[in-house]
Amino acid sequence: MVRGVELRLAEKSFVTRGRDLRADLALDAGAVVVGMGAGGSIALRELARAGVDVVGLEEGGYHTAADFNQREEQMLALLFQEMGGRTTEDMAIRVLQGRGVGGSTIHNTNLCKRIPDPILNAWSERLGLHDLRPEALAPVFAQIESELGVSTMGPSDRNANNEVLRIGIEKLGWRGGPLQHNRIGCQRSGFCELGCSYDAKQNALKVVLPQAAAAGAHVYADIKVTEIQVDGGAVTGVEGVALDERGAMIAHVRIRTRVVVLAGSATGSAALALASGLPDPHDQLGRGLHLHPAALVAGVFDRELDGFDGIPQSYECTEHLSFEPGSDRRVWIVPAFGHPIATAALLPGFGAAHMRAMRAYRKLAVLTAMVHDESEGRVLLRDGRNGGRPQLRYELGESDRVQLAKGIVACGRILFAAGAKEVVVPAVFPLRTRDARELDRVDMAFVRPHHLPLSAVHPMGSMRLGTDPARSVVGPTGEHHQVRGLFVADGSLFPTSIGGPPQIGIYALALHLSRHMVARAKG
Ligand SMILES: Cc1cc2nc3c(=O)[nH]c(=O)nc-3n(C[C@H](O)[C@H](O)[C@H](O)COP(=O)(O)OP(=O)(O)OC[C@H]3O[C@@H](n4cnc5c(N)ncnc54)[C@H](O)[C@@H]3O)c2cc1C
Repeated sequence: MVRGVELRLAEKSFVTRGRDLRADLALDAGAVVVGMGAGGSIALRELARAGVDVVGLEEGGYHTAADFNQREEQMLALLFQEMGGRTTEDMAIRVLQGRGVGGSTIHNTNLCKRIPDPILNAWSERLGLHDLRPEALAPVFAQIESELGVSTMGPSDRNANNEVLRIGIEKLGWRGGPLQHNRIGCQRSGFCELGCSYDAKQNALKVVLPQAAAAGAHVYADIKVTEIQVDGGAVTGVEGVALDERGAMIAHVRIRTRVVVLAGSATGSAALALASGLPDPHDQLGRGLHLHPAALVAGVFDRELDGFDGIPQSYECTEHLSFEPGSDRRVWIVPAFGHPIATAALLPGFGAAHMRAMRAYRKLAVLTAMVHDESEGRVLLRDGRNGGRPQLRYELGESDRVQLAKGIVACGRILFAAGAKEVVVPAVFPLRTRDARELDRVDMAFVRPHHLPLSAVHPMGSMRLGTDPARSVVGPTGEHHQVRGLFVADGSLFPTSIGGPPQIGIYALALHLSRHMVARAKG
């Protein structure tokens, strides 16, 4: 199958490293999956299990637990898109996404939630996506949860930071409870977001991709797909480049195939589709981007909590979250804690004032308010060379700014209720208060671009599922409305924000739609 190539295979590995290619790579395959994250790994596995000769291509490197050394400055550069520096176009929101075999599942926080029933019902009733009704997807969610070893975090899994959240919401009489995770054998080191050195994450890298390889799939790292090729309204193949450790091109890659599954994430897939000049008669490609933007609020306690130590997020506050269409309760609150460099970058003040703030590091508890956003952004193409890079145009609309302000106030109330002596909202003009009533100063004007450090780890939308080609990019089977044989299987599919951690929804949609990919590859 492989022609004219000389490969040095990684020992005992199921992945071929593109950086080891010594010549161009030319293949014929039954199907190609682009991107080896949550959605791509499942599509790859299901195609391989159905007997399709399938190749998985990933632009990032192949790294394992032995490489995850818990150093912020090294792991951000190794495992994240744009070395952790990706932002929205106006630089108002930092957008963290993974790059590597396993995608964002390598360094996510392991939270597992199904897509809420009211959202699936709305997709079914308003968009005609009847195949995604809660009762249709329930067994698919159950299968994924069982495969990833999802379990509910108990009291012994709760670190001091999460305990602060629990105490705070219980004192206020607010709704909340324990979260579900996909981790087994967790050592509670607190470094989930830098890759797990103990290999406790039951993620795409550890669970799904080895299964895909065992079923006969071929996985290549360090290969960026630069073009999806289409002829006569049907996919004919992909072109790409093999990259060395520094990201320089070392070889060309060309694969002929009739089925391509795009799984480069809600930003990567749309950018590649744009770079390929795919038909887009209704100007839908890249539209509908949601981010779940989030803000941080810190509480300073009079005792050492070491909130950075232990499982980062095992408890949630759902008091201000409802998934009913049109709801004005769209804020989800969970703990968040930064490693030292991230915390130092966010804490307000300079010189002696900053040093004083960092001296309280061990006494901090930190919460984050995340918005189930209505604002819709757009993925554009930043740089046409080598497939280009995504440019994320996204501005928080007024209603989302109001929600975020409510969320910040709620975080402050929880922290005070749990015993914080001071609450700090990092901003250009930070809010530091010892009086809960002062929190009322936080309003929409406080939540404005560049005033508040905002971050997002859940990009969604951009190649939306839908029955109507005028308002979506792919049809209910996951196949592109205009290009036969081109499927999408990642967070791009979501027609709206889902208001919670998306990985289970992405794994599940990829599994649910995989039968259509298999049928096309075999047909
Ligand atoms: C810090 C952090 C914490 C998170 N915590 C949670 C959590 O606790 N629970 C949860 O549910 N979700 C969490 N998420 C989000 C979740 O991990 C993602 O939503 C999910 O993994 C996205 O799946 P995906 O298949 O869309 O893309 P990804 O998993 O991001 O995979 C896409 C892959 O495609 C590759 N790619 C892109 N373009 C190309 C190309 N042209 N050629 C080849 N390869 C390409 C990328 O390098 C990447 O590896 C977190 C994310 C981050 C960053």
